Amino acid sequence: MNAGAYVQVPFCQTKCTYCNFHTGVFSHDLYAPYVDAVAREIAEYPRLLRENKIQEIPDTVVDTVYVGGGTPSLLDPKTLRGVLDAIRAGFRCDFEEVTLEADPETITPEKAAAWRDAGFDRISMGVQSFHDTELKAAGRMHRREDIFNATRILRDAGFHKISADLIAGLPHQTDATWDSSVGELLALRPEHISIYLMEIDEGSRLGLEVLNGGSRYSAAALPTDDVMAGFYERACARLASAGYVHYEISNWALPGFESRHNLKYWRREPYFGFGAGAHSFNGTQRWANAHDPAAYASTINRGRFAVEQMETVTREQALEEELFLGLRQLAGIDLAEIESKYGTNLAPRVEQLRAQGLLEWHGGLLRLAPDRLAVSNEVFVNLLD
Ligand code: SF4
Repeated sequence: MNAGAYVQVPFCQTKCTYCNFHTGVFSHDLYAPYVDAVAREIAEYPRLLRENKIQEIPDTVVDTVYVGGGTPSLLDPKTLRGVLDAIRAGFRCDFEEVTLEADPETITPEKAAAWRDAGFDRISMGVQSFHDTELKAAGRMHRREDIFNATRILRDAGFHKISADLIAGLPHQTDATWDSSVGELLALRPEHISIYLMEIDEGSRLGLEVLNGGSRYSAAALPTDDVMAGFYERACARLASAGYVHYEISNWALPGFESRHNLKYWRREPYFGFGAGAHSFNGTQRWANAHDPAAYASTINRGRFAVEQMETVTREQALEEELFLGLRQLAGIDLAEIESKYGTNLAPRVEQLRAQGLLEWHGGLLRLAPDRLAVSNEVFVNLLD
């Protein structure tokens, strides 16, 4: 069975105002001990799983690796190589895709060459916007020039798989600036593009400010939900005409460049997460490590599993995941197969949503209606209710 390996590097240079991830600004002194703990977690993984009654997957072959964060490109490339070496030593490996997340301002020719040499073949770059006013307001460290420089450096270093992401709904974003960011990104022709809609929740400083009715972090300059939905819909049309395949709600790729690692999440295939806050799934159980990097490292260094949360996925949860994760993929789901696997009849609810124009049949598969992707959450709530 093939599996993915995810390594979480929770360190950033600053905290972006919209960020709701468990990442932060930590002393550089923590970097090396943290990565040593990740390497130890990988090396001792079989024992840690056994002791915690987690089923191992027989004959696991790790074929995708994703080092994400945070900003893993802040780490010394030698340290990143050590992470890949630990995976190579701890698992049977046959790498098909090895991704590193990198922020544009951290990318140098020396680092890019060292990443290639270590075995990374794909870079996921946090672009977010091509407008400095928006980048500054969001607390990002890079500016538009850094995006062009970084892309040139990565191409020169031989990276043929570059992913870049934009955020729709940043403070100060207008129709004009959004359209120009999409146009500039298309001109760079990355093999993969992600577009995320701005999330307003209490997990970020900006979200909290909005919920409290304040105006710090340019909260008053946020585009409305309708404007943001318009950004997304216009981007869908432009990316399609530029030859990108829209294969997941937030993801597009030139043919053949879909993210193999991320497809594992949506297809409910196994993946093992290492590092603080990393999540894992073996097909029947899900578990997550402690979020605090120092607490994670000290638990691992005592020879213990740093798991904070573990659950066995019930049949009902598995069905919900099949629907939720399956429908995020634009190709759609085989409803009859799911119904027979779970012994359930979803036809009445599906028919209701189809009549409302939210779902549709396409080539025998059930999928989200292409013009309602921006309101996909509404469909999921109704379908899983
Ligand atoms: S760089 Fe990414 S992970 Fe770090 S604070 Fe910004 S959005 Fe969050």
